[in-house]
Amino acid sequence: MTIEDLNSRIAACQRVHLANLPTPIHKLPSLSAFIGRGPVYMKRDDLTGLALGGNKTRKLEWIMADLIAGGYDTILTWGGWQSNWCRQVAAAAAQLGIEAHLALITQGAHLGNCTANALLDTLLGAHIHVVPADKNGKFFHLEELKAVLEPIVSCLANEGKKVYLVGVGGSMVEGSMKKPLGALAYLHAFMEMHEQLKTMGLDIKHIVVTSGSSSTQAGLLAGAILLNPGIRVTGISVTLPSAPMAGYVKRLTQLLLDDLAYEGRFDDDLVIVDDRFLGKGYGVIDDDTLEVIRLTAKNEGILLDPVYTGKGMRGLIALLKEAPSSQGATLFWHTGGAPALFAYGDELTFADFS
Ligand SMILES: *Cc1c(COP(=O)(O)O)cnc(C)c1O
Repeated sequence: MTIEDLNSRIAACQRVHLANLPTPIHKLPSLSAFIGRGPVYMKRDDLTGLALGGNKTRKLEWIMADLIAGGYDTILTWGGWQSNWCRQVAAAAAQLGIEAHLALITQGAHLGNCTANALLDTLLGAHIHVVPADKNGKFFHLEELKAVLEPIVSCLANEGKKVYLVGVGGSMVEGSMKKPLGALAYLHAFMEMHEQLKTMGLDIKHIVVTSGSSSTQAGLLAGAILLNPGIRVTGISVTLPSAPMAGYVKRLTQLLLDDLAYEGRFDDDLVIVDDRFLGKGYGVIDDDTLEVIRLTAKNEGILLDPVYTGKGMRGLIALLKEAPSSQGATLFWHTGGAPALFAYGDELTFADFS
């Protein structure tokens, strides 16, 4: 498919302007030399700009347009206590004059500390609903949080508010979001990268991205299928084991391709998820990830985060080092998250200032 063709297929979908685009693509000379398996580039979606940015800003351009077109005045979503998604929802809502309600789930050591993303949520004027993590700690689907969300929705409805309910990460097609708009945003981002690579005369063989709720990877995979089947897309999971994550990525990719009236099928082998860097689970930092955050900061002046991109970059380094020789050019898709660094101050102290 050509980019013009694809542009006309997505033209019917509306979008509001929230992000500074295109985000730059940088070469990482020191990390490339350190890994020794060919050049490594980075797509800087940490620089999307909306109240410290990140990948959710792109998704919100489409989701907020959907909300406005539907005549809603309030948005309700949920996430972990240090959710980057929730912080970007709060900022987008503030910019567009929409009331934001966030159900924030308290987890582990960072339970309830009003710092980093949680601090910014309140500064941005969002209404916070504190949700104690239950025993199994599941909050991937609306269904799992129904008991918490329904009373909030009915309370807001009683006040005459029209509530747009959207799932964590802006990924799943559930609640008020009837189309895979998060994945669509990342198909659009792939198109942006495709044009940049053409201008730069650069041929990328492999994209590595951190996967949390799966629509970023799904959108990039759809882009590769439609525009450049020579590019492999690997998701480094920071939430789920490989099999369920791959299931979600596959489903969202298919939904998006169906929406675009794409008739071809795609092979299951294209859905690549690696869960070896999950460590002790979502939001739990480990020494190897810490080392990669430090390496990237000291050698490239670029900030990764402990929950997502630190583990993602650790995955990229391991995958390349496992390869016997140069893999051609690799691109790490930086998805943001550095504000969460401030919630991990105790674990992240690198020097004793003596
Ligand atoms: C949400 C998030 C991701 C994962 O994106 P998904 O589309 O949820 O898979 C990666 N990195 C950061 C910093 C995020 O906030």
